[in-house]
Parts: sequence; C-alpha cells; structure tokens
Amino acid sequence: MRIAEVIIPLPVPEPFDYLVPEEMVLAPGDHVLVPLGPRRVWGLVRDVRETPATNRNLKAVAERIAVTPLPANTLAFVEWASRWQIAPPGDPMAIALRGLRSEPPRPPKRLVLTGEPPSKLTAARERVLEAAQAGSPTAVALAEAAGVSTGVVKALIDDGALTWVELPEDQAFAEPDPDHAPAALNPSQAAAADVLGQMIRQGGFQAALIDGVTGSGKTEVYLEAVAHALRADPDAQILVLLPEIALTQAVIARFAQRFGVEPAEWHSGVSGPKRRRVWDAVVAGDARIVVGARSALFLPFRKLALIVVDEEHDSSFKQEDGFIYQGRDLAVARANIEKAMVVLASATPSLESLWNAEQGRYRWLRLSARHGAAQMPEIGLIDLRETPPEHGRWLSPPLVEALADTYARGEQSLLFLNRRGYAPLVICKACGQRMTAPDTDSWLVEHRYTNRLVCHLTGFSMRKPDKCPHCGAKDSLTSIGPGVERIEDEVKSLFPEARVAVFSSDTVPDGQSARELVERMAGHEIDVMVATQAAAKGHNFPMLTLVGVVDADLGLKGGDLRAGERTFQLLAQATGRAGRHERPGRALIQTWQPEHPVMQALKAQDRDAFVEAESAEREAARLPPFGRLVALVLSSPDPSALEAVARNLAAAVPNAEGAEVYGPADAPLALIRGRRRKRFLVRADRGVDIQGLVSTWLSRVKVPASVRVVVDVDPYSFL
Ligand SMILES: [Zn+2]
Repeated sequence: MRIAEVIIPLPVPEPFDYLVPEEMVLAPGDHVLVPLGPRRVWGLVRDVRETPATNRNLKAVAERIAVTPLPANTLAFVEWASRWQIAPPGDPMAIALRGLRSEPPRPPKRLVLTGEPPSKLTAARERVLEAAQAGSPTAVALAEAAGVSTGVVKALIDDGALTWVELPEDQAFAEPDPDHAPAALNPSQAAAADVLGQMIRQGGFQAALIDGVTGSGKTEVYLEAVAHALRADPDAQILVLLPEIALTQAVIARFAQRFGVEPAEWHSGVSGPKRRRVWDAVVAGDARIVVGARSALFLPFRKLALIVVDEEHDSSFKQEDGFIYQGRDLAVARANIEKAMVVLASATPSLESLWNAEQGRYRWLRLSARHGAAQMPEIGLIDLRETPPEHGRWLSPPLVEALADTYARGEQSLLFLNRRGYAPLVICKACGQRMTAPDTDSWLVEHRYTNRLVCHLTGFSMRKPDKCPHCGAKDSLTSIGPGVERIEDEVKSLFPEARVAVFSSDTVPDGQSARELVERMAGHEIDVMVATQAAAKGHNFPMLTLVGVVDADLGLKGGDLRAGERTFQLLAQATGRAGRHERPGRALIQTWQPEHPVMQALKAQDRDAFVEAESAEREAARLPPFGRLVALVLSSPDPSALEAVARNLAAAVPNAEGAEVYGPADAPLALIRGRRRKRFLVRADRGVDIQGLVSTWLSRVKVPASVRVVVDVDPYSFL
C-alpha cells in the first residue's frame, strides 16, 4: 500500500499520513483534499512511500486537486524554512499557497460581430449592431449604447450575428526585453554590473552585496543584473523584494521603462483573483519578473535565477506575527536551494550582511560616488541643550532659520520624525494618569485628524474623551510630546503661506495615495513635508535641499540590540534625501546627546567607523552576527498557567556548551490584549545548533492550550 505524507496549511506540528487510494496517482508537490476531523482541507503532498500493510487506522486522500504541483525546490524551501524558524511546516506552506485562495479569474470576454446578417433586422437590432461595430465590450454596455434591453442583444447572439471572444492574455506576463532601454552607467556602476554579469554567467548559488551611498544608483546596477539573468537563460525568473508597498509603484515603473513590460506585482494590496493569476503565471514560468513584499519569497517559481533584496537592512523584512521570519535571510536560503544568485542592496547594509561580505561569503560591490552632479549633503548636529526650542515647540531656532532660508530660496524641506499621530502620550493634568489601552500595557497615541486615541500595537482606538476617565476632571487631558501632525501645526504657524503635507501611514494608507503624494512633492506642490520613515527611503525630490531630523534620539531609547544600528540606518537614509540633484543639500539633526557615537558617525558621514565600533561591542558580547539569538515569548490570559509553564521550561533548560538561556522575565509589554507575557532569551555561539537546542528544550515541557509559546529565531523586537 502507499501512504502520502501531507502538509496541511494549519499550525499542526507535522505532516499527516493518509492512505493513497488504489487508482490515484500521486507525487510530491501534488495538491490534495484530505479529511481532517469533520472537515475536508486542502493539503500538499510532501512524499509518497510504499509500505507493507499497516495496522494504523489511516484515512484516505479524498481527492487530487487539478492545480499545477508545487515545484520540488519550493517544497524544499518551505520545509527548510519550517525547520529554521522552529515552526510547523503548515505555517510557511500556508504562505506558499496563499495565491490559491481565490478561483482563477475567468478571462475577460467581449462581444464582436460575426459578419453574418441576422435573420431579421429591426431598428433596435440595427442600433445594437452599430454599437458593436464601435466596440462596446459587454451585453449590458451594448444594450445601453443602443438604448435597448439586453434581450435584444441576446437575441442577436442566438441569431448568430454576435459572438463572444476572449480577450488576449494580460500584458503583465509579456516577455521582458533585456536590451529594451539600457541606462548609461557611470564607471563605478558599470564595474559592479560587470561583476554581477560574470557571476550570473558562472551560474550556481552566489551572493553579492551592492553597498553604495544614497543616490549612488544601486537600482541601475541591479537592473543590469536582471538583464544579465534574462540573457543568460531564456526561461529565467527573477524576484525583487522591497521592504514597503509604498516603494513598489516607483520600482515597477523603473522595470517597465528598462525592459519594456511591467513586472508582476505581489503584496497584500493585490486582490484575490489577481493573486491567483500571478500564482498561476509564476508556477507556469510565464511571470518572468516579480516585484513584491517579503511573502513573494514563497511563490512557486519554476526556474528562479536571481533574487534581489533592495534596502536589505530594512527591519520591515522581518515578519513579526504568524509565521515569524526574516525575509532577507530566507531569500539567501532560497537562492541556495534554487542554485540561484542573490543580490542584496543598501546604502547602510546590516551588520549581518557586512560581516558576510567581510568573510568573503558575499561578493562586496562598493559604489562610492553619487550619481551625476549630486554631492553628499552637509550634515550638522543641533545640540538641544544649547539651543532648545521655545516652550511648547519642537523645532529649535537653528532649524527654524534653515527652514526659513530654504523656503525663501524656493526650495523644499523635509522634516523627519518617526512618530505617527499628534502626540505620543496623553496625560490628565488633574490626577496625572496616563491614558492607556484597556487590555494592553501601552500608551494611547493622540490622532487629531480623527480626534481619536489609538493603540499602535493592537489597533484599539477610542474617541478622545472630554473628561478624564480616572478622576472625572473636565478638559484636563494634555498632549505630551510631538508626532508628525503636531510638527505640521508648528510649521504652519511659523510659515502660514507655506504648503505643508504629512507623509505617514495614516495620510498615505496605500500605494495609490503614496504615489500621489510623492508626485506632488516631486512637482514642487509642497514646500515642507513632515514624514515618518515611510518617506525616508527610495524617493528622489529634485528641489529638496534641507532635511531636518526632529528627534534623533528617539530610536536609541528602549535599548534593544539593534537600536544604534537602526537609528544610524534610518537617519542616514533620511538625511540622504537632501540634495540628490544639482542643488547642494544639507541635513540638520536635533539631538540631546551629540557626543553619542551614532550622532558623531552621522555628522562625519563615516559609516565604516560606526560599523567598526558597533561590531566591536557586539563581538565582545557574542551577539549577532557574532552569535545567535532565539527568543521565546509565552503568553496567556491565565497568570497561574503562565507561571507554571515558565517554571517548567526554566527547569528543563538543556545543558549545552556555548549557549546560555536567560529568563523567564516579564516582557517589557507585560500585557497585550488581555494576555500576560513572559520571555526567555537563548544566546548561542555560531557553531551551536540553536534550532536543535530549542526544539529539544520545547519537547521536554507540556504546554496547556491556554498558554501560547511563540519562538522568534533571530528576534528584532524585544517587547
Ligand atoms: Zn484625571
């Protein structure tokens, strides 16, 4: 008899065994329906094995689904990802099968004349035929154009005078042309593109890091790598990963310009039927270039030749809920499984990638100069201890003066503050209480546009009350600290004539609105833009010559492992927006601690010095990339059950050379959505099998259903 091991896209610990019915032909990668309890669920065949009769009471596979099987490499990648992240295989499989949730869209049809005259011709019928000649697409549109009922149109179809035809294939999957419109490269770009071309022709798994200052033209270089891959293999598929949907439209336009056709698009903003079409085209090998968010990594590529990870340092590549993974790291793993090339690109590469480049694992391609006539901006620190803002204001006199100069010259400014809303905190003047979410240990953020108090962690929101909910005092609630909306107010009061806009995920919720705002800024319809990190990267504004960082110290608080690195990257990206064209730019950074190494490195524009200092600290503590971390987050609505599991886990910690376990400790956010939280942290030397260690540890402790244990391999969030 034959047994199929089936991965079910649900968080169950392992594949389930099913009998394969006598007459059914099944192979790894096949899609099936299998019984699970009272339901039938979609599953994916991991393996089929012959076995002598078994006494296990196995259920049989109900049906083989007629969908193209998952390619072997995609299946191998899903299984690898599951082991690496210490998660059930169904979790990454669910992402791989996400495009299949909708029915494939029917090809669009329209009505055309057959050329046969109808058996009888009335005035109404004549008008319909005239409208059809003019090209009305549907029965309803034809009837409307002719001023008749759809019955008349249907009668003409029955009569043989009109017929339905399918529209031609979507243009999205047309063949890209590697020689459509090559860009003129400067010598530094051309040298890097040549190396990538050689690596691609050589074939097999290889990795490269394009490391170039903001504005050095990294995109042109990786576009040439894509061209090389297309030329090297007529069936090659290419995946380009971006950290933010807001950047997708601009990158898609660049691809369309360079290769003559639009690439396929894959992210949460793509609708169900369209997703299905992309999924089908990827597995068929028809979608040659896919531009997307991290989840595009799980698409069923037939012949993946190249993966590009743009802005590789960006922490948005880390998926923080559901199946937790780091998209950049998994991109390298997938390229390895596919024997493909992976190109990482950044102006401020992560310490991990720089370390890999130093070790010779990644080919290191440094682009030194800015593209064209542009110079690096001049960067100055504003010491807030010496020149503080006026009371109740957030912009210091030197920054206000710079804004005034820039505005007077008819140039644009960008004020950067990585805080949404109006104020990050609301307190009661009468009783001193902070406004917090009812079931979560987090402060509520005031949003003036909507007049609501919002928890950014859980999405909880409430109308801002007139009275303090704690003491009942009227009009006592005070907004503390600035968000982008408050900075907008301040700029408007300083420069009443200036055109001011806010760029944050609240004002720019989707790709369309992001594109519109970017176009307005590029067209100089805005004088001052106040922006969160949503606008810190990728965009080019010719008249932008001043960048002001409102609170440079913000990211350094909280003290997690990557606080310094992230702050440096974010501020280097933000200040790099200034002066990207002919006009010289400058950046001013407001800080209370100008002597901090991050601020000094930014001022000197000396990334290498920063990386060296930061690396030395990490190496001394054996922290990533010099060691490895896994976090365990326990949560439960039942505090005593939580305590018991934490105690049992603490007692079951395995002994391992080169590894330590810290905890349990209350998580910094000890309550989220009514669940109490505790954390463990495992640190191990690079040679230690940390996944094996954690799996063994977890297998020793029974966890009741009321307690959730989330394993976060290589954690970025320490909340
Ligand atoms: Zn109060």
